[in-house]
Order: sequence, then C-alpha cells, then structure tokens
Amino acid sequence: MVEIPSRRAVLRRPSFGRALAALAALPFAACSEPPPPTVVLVTLDTTRAQNLSTYGYTRPTDPFLRSLSERSRVFERAYSTTTWTLPSHVSMFTGLPPAEHGVWFRLEQTDGGSSFPVVGAQQPLVTERLVEAGYTLLGAGGGPFTRSLYGLARDFDWFTEPEGGLGQPAGGSWQLTGAEINRRLFPELRALDGDRPLFLFVNYFDAHAPYDPPQDRSYPFPLPGELSFLQGSRTLHPMPDMTEWVAQGQAIPPEFIALAVANYDQELLLQDEALAALWAELERLGRLRDALVIVTADHGEMFGEQPDRFGHSDRPWEPATRVPLVVYRTGGPVDRIDGPVSVQQVAVTITEALGLAPLPAPVGGALPSLLAEDPRPGEAFAEMHTPDTWVAALHRGREKWLVDWVVERRELPEPTGVWLDLSLNPAEDLGGREPLEMFPPLSPAAERGWRRLAELRGRWEQAPDRSGRASLSPEELRGLAQMGYLELPVGDGAAGK
Ligand SMILES: [Zn+2]
Repeated sequence: MVEIPSRRAVLRRPSFGRALAALAALPFAACSEPPPPTVVLVTLDTTRAQNLSTYGYTRPTDPFLRSLSERSRVFERAYSTTTWTLPSHVSMFTGLPPAEHGVWFRLEQTDGGSSFPVVGAQQPLVTERLVEAGYTLLGAGGGPFTRSLYGLARDFDWFTEPEGGLGQPAGGSWQLTGAEINRRLFPELRALDGDRPLFLFVNYFDAHAPYDPPQDRSYPFPLPGELSFLQGSRTLHPMPDMTEWVAQGQAIPPEFIALAVANYDQELLLQDEALAALWAELERLGRLRDALVIVTADHGEMFGEQPDRFGHSDRPWEPATRVPLVVYRTGGPVDRIDGPVSVQQVAVTITEALGLAPLPAPVGGALPSLLAEDPRPGEAFAEMHTPDTWVAALHRGREKWLVDWVVERRELPEPTGVWLDLSLNPAEDLGGREPLEMFPPLSPAAERGWRRLAELRGRWEQAPDRSGRASLSPEELRGLAQMGYLELPVGDGAAGK
C-alpha cells in the first residue's frame, strides 16, 4: 500500500504549535461559535443517473443513496462539465469549466518524453480555502486521474491512491475498490483529533470499466433472459472490450450490451455499499452531527445509446454527462430540484456554506450554491476538448445545444451540431445523422444557443492557461492505455480516446 503523506502533512501534523496557530486563524475560533461542520465530497466515478433507483431505475442499484436522497436535496438534472475524470474533478475543486482551468486532454510527446496537463500550482482550489479555515483534509482517489501526480491532492493531510504498475489483472493496479478505500481510510478517520473540522474527499471507482464485479458473492441482478449462452455458468469474465470491437468495425451483439449493463449495475451496488459503510463510520465517530455531504459523479457512461458509442471520453451525450447529485445538509433543504445544474457548483456550495472567501468566478458568470433558495444557474455546460476537436453542450431548461468545433476548421462560417428539446427527444435520437452533418440552416431558436456558446468560446480562448504540466513515464502512458484513456499506436505517440 502506498499512502501519500502530502508535504502539508509533513509540515502540519507533528507540530502542536502549528496546530494552535492554525486554530487561531480560524474564523470559527471563538468559544461561543459552534464547531464547523464536517464536509464530505464523494464522487461515484462513471456513474450515470439513469442507472440509479434514486432517479427511477428499476434495479435497486443504490439502496443507501436512495435512502439518503429522502433526507437531502436531489438534483434531477445535474451535469458533469466533461466526459472524463480529471477535468471534471478539477471543475468541482475550482468552480471552473475545463476551458478555464485548462486541464483538458493535451498529451504532448517530444523526444524528451511526454507531458500532460495537471492542476496548476497557482490555481485556487476549494481545498486551499478549507486548509486556511483549519480543516483536516483526508482523501482517497480510486482511479488513475485522481492520483497525486495530477495535482488534486496537493492540499490534503493524507491521501491514498492506486499504486499503478503493470503486469496486474486488467486495470487491477490502477484502481482501488470501494472496500479497499474504506479499509485504508477508516483507521485514519479514527485516529483524527475529534476537535478539528474534517473535509473528506472520496472517489469510488468500482463502476469504471472493466465491468468485473467480484464473483465470490451472489449476483443480485438476474441476467437478462436472452443471455441463454451464459445459462449454467456464472462466469462473466472476461467482459468483451466493446470499444475495441467498435474500433475494429465489429457490431456489438445486444446480449453483450445487456451483460455489460448487468455487470455495471452490480458494480454500482458495490459502490453504494461502500458509501453506506462510510456513512456508518462517520456517524459512529460523531462526524455527521453537523455535516454537508455532497454525492455526485464525474461523468456517466455510454452503452450504445448513440451508434457505436461505449464508455465515455466522447461527446457530452446525456448518458455520459447526466450524473447523480445529492446534497445533504444538517437542517438543510429536503426537496427535488428540476432544471439543469452543474457539478461546477460544488466549490461555491462549500465556500458559501462555511463562509469562506469565494474562488474566482467563471467567465460565464458566478454560479449559485447548490443550497441556495434557487440553486439553478439558468444554464449548464459540458464539453470535450482535445487538440483537434472541441465539442460543447449548453443546457437551458429542457433545451440542449451540442456544437462541434473542429479546431482546424475553426473559421467555418456556420457551426455544426444539434439543437434538441429533451422533453420531446430524451434519447437524443438524431435519426441516423451525425452531429457534424447538422445545424445549418439555423432556426432563430437554435441560433440563440449557438451565439451564447460562440460568445463563451471567445472568452474562454482569452482566459489565461492556468494548468501545469507533469511528465508521464512510459509506464504511466501504458497504464492509461490499459485503462482505455489512450491509444498507443506502435511508435506513433498517443491519441485521445
Ligand atoms: Zn471518471
């Protein structure tokens, strides 16, 4: 096990004098003030809202989250800011879209090695504000992109993550199960000074591909009846790599999709069990008497809802970006909110709830706290950005614009993309056409959203690049390829996937 004591842990933990100094700096230090609340942010990696019973799914994949949702504010239509792990998490920690925090997919390879964007050293993060307020920060990243290398862990007193390393079962060494995260985390929670406020960040990663739920326990969701070729066998391994099949031009049989979804659902349940155990432990330790707990996801997953689309890291389609968002606050609102909101609002929710200094607002305008009387910002964005393409989605009410900017054709006089009314077309059915073929001629209604995106694109392009760069070792690159994030053609660099 590698547990990463951050530089802050080395500086802060052993020194009682420093702890006192930190306490003196607290806005909460006066004896008459109630102690500050526990703050917990849980991201369920690769978890799409539509496969959770909290959002009406027929399989009980999330009994704990559903029970929590009955004591919380639930957002019916929450969107991630992009379709993969790292930039979406950076959005939650900064309150900014990927175009502004700059941590989007830009692998650069030169003779000297490979570099990748990471959280910039000067980028203000919500964790920084929590440190200033005297919080102890514990964290656990379950997958490759929440590891310390990429910069999100910089303010934590203790952070645990996968060790990496090749030669393990597919993905095994690049991800931690929820049970393993809890096994590492709980002793740290118990060892904490109970008088200091706690911020806890956990990224549970069970639902991410490969869809390989453990086979040493009963399987609660019956396999679909049409999987007759599997009857008599409980062996669900190996799951076919559907993205690989698509790359080879092969059709995916529907029974394999059904099998993938059944396995994915099982992993959602494992994740929910880990979350339930975490809640129970925090409650036992008295950490939830006054608490703000945010449970969401960094992105969803595609199971062929668009032709040949599986996994994520693609256009911001609904299954890839509509995520759960449940906000529990002691004494706070218990309701369900319709209308689009963004995971970007996590940062302002924490700073406002604790009365901390605000983080820089996005150029599109300041966003409301998720605990505000009206937490809906009026519009929500998602994007997928690579050196070659920039696809942006804008949500307003039930309307959705999905615009393709092919970077090398940026001077095109007319945009291409899709304008949808999700209340009439929730499946985003394009009738077999590609978004790149659509849009012109623009209707006046379609033009409104396009103009807003074009205006924002201009402002995003003027924003300073706040990202940093990290060198990636050949082993790191192979690990990311193993996890499906990169393609590594022999002798020819890597492309986003
Ligand atoms: Zn992810």
